[in-house]
Amino acid sequence: MFEKVQQLQSEAAKAIKEAKNIEELEQLNTRFLGRKGAITEILRGLGSVSVEERPLLGQQANQLKTEISSMLDIKKEELKSTGTKASSLSSLDITVPGRKLATGGIHPLTRIRYELEEIFVSMGFTVEHGPEIETDYYNFEALNTPADHPARDEQDSFYITDKHLLRTQTSTVQIRVMETKQPPIRMIAPGRCYRRDAVDATHNYQFHQIEGLMVDKGITLGDLKGVLDSLVKAMFGEDCKTRFTPHFFPFTEPSAELHMSCLFCKGKGCRVCKNSGWIELGGCGMVDPEVFKHVGYDPEVYSGFAFGFGIERIAMLKYGIDDIRLFFDNDIRFLKQFSEGQPVKELKSEEMNKKMEDIEKKEETHIVDYDTFSKLDIRVGTVVSAEKVEKADKLLKLQIDIGEETPRQVVAGIALKYTPEEMVGKRMILLTNLEPRKIRGIESRGMILAATADNLPIALTTDEPVPSGSRVK
Ligand SMILES: [Zn+2]
Repeated sequence: MFEKVQQLQSEAAKAIKEAKNIEELEQLNTRFLGRKGAITEILRGLGSVSVEERPLLGQQANQLKTEISSMLDIKKEELKSTGTKASSLSSLDITVPGRKLATGGIHPLTRIRYELEEIFVSMGFTVEHGPEIETDYYNFEALNTPADHPARDEQDSFYITDKHLLRTQTSTVQIRVMETKQPPIRMIAPGRCYRRDAVDATHNYQFHQIEGLMVDKGITLGDLKGVLDSLVKAMFGEDCKTRFTPHFFPFTEPSAELHMSCLFCKGKGCRVCKNSGWIELGGCGMVDPEVFKHVGYDPEVYSGFAFGFGIERIAMLKYGIDDIRLFFDNDIRFLKQFSEGQPVKELKSEEMNKKMEDIEKKEETHIVDYDTFSKLDIRVGTVVSAEKVEKADKLLKLQIDIGEETPRQVVAGIALKYTPEEMVGKRMILLTNLEPRKIRGIESRGMILAATADNLPIALTTDEPVPSGSRVK
């Protein structure tokens, strides 16, 4: 009987030490201490032992009972503190990137408009708005384009009544501002405009303009050039050059077209700039004295300049978009690229589709909730040895010291990035409380944490001078 107590002692110590979770401990409790447990059995059997031996055996059995009970308590605390509940983690791959929350974003045209507004506001301009349904007077007449003027043909419009139409330009706002304010005026008017253009890659019936106006005493063509040159450099970069070529607009005299040096070939000549090295950006000029007369400014005292650009055109140049219709299709796959703040350089339909597929693929990920996450036991480990896994070019078999008696064997999909030699001695961050599983028939007990860059895994490592097996908190 004394031998039986001894045997029971070592049996219980071993079983408790190896227990993996609370449930197992409870089973051991029943097995050793329960009403039909091993200790109870010995105590019940005391009657069959000789009278001399009885007290000693009884004492030993009771001692063992207390000992097992305290071993169970200690182990229970230990399991609780490492939060091990391996069964619920067995199918979890926490190295997979988390799922991104879908967030809204700013439309590329709005983004460009904000940028333009910011640049002009920094130069002292105000941002003004006006109605999209305009009268014939503001849209044409006040801008020096009477009913029989040939420029009206170019701007075939959407009339609502004989006198009301959807504005074809935002210059209308300039007139409205000049009617209510006296110089000095420094303003821009961004907004939607409408023309009866046939829709193609560069034309749409709805588009956005930004027009500007500066009126004061002594404003010259030099001011015009200075302001627009600053704009182009702020928008497209300091090395962008500008040039002005003569043109005709009804409400400015003299008028010019603003060109900037080609972004794509830096002026050498390419397909985009039709080998000229220059790209047209918009129109500008000194305000025609006739326009000042309409709003009651004295053209002998005041002078000024005006300019207008298409916001779509600027966005297309800046982001390398080759079809204006993309802005209005509201295809979420197109818009998404801008909401993430990383517009692609060039959008060709085929390339775009491929990019979209890639984005969609990336979204097939798993969610790790906080409850699960808080149970993860993550430790620092040092790679003791590493070798390739036969017939698996992505896998390495690693032996990793995490402060246990023997190193952990872990199979990791990092062989595309690391050779076995490189891995030896490296300090890895390791998820240790996973149920063992077989990868290509090789047992793996844990998982090293890795990120992905350019489709290659990057194993997470640490410089902290902590011993192997330290918990990462
Ligand atoms: Zn070019």
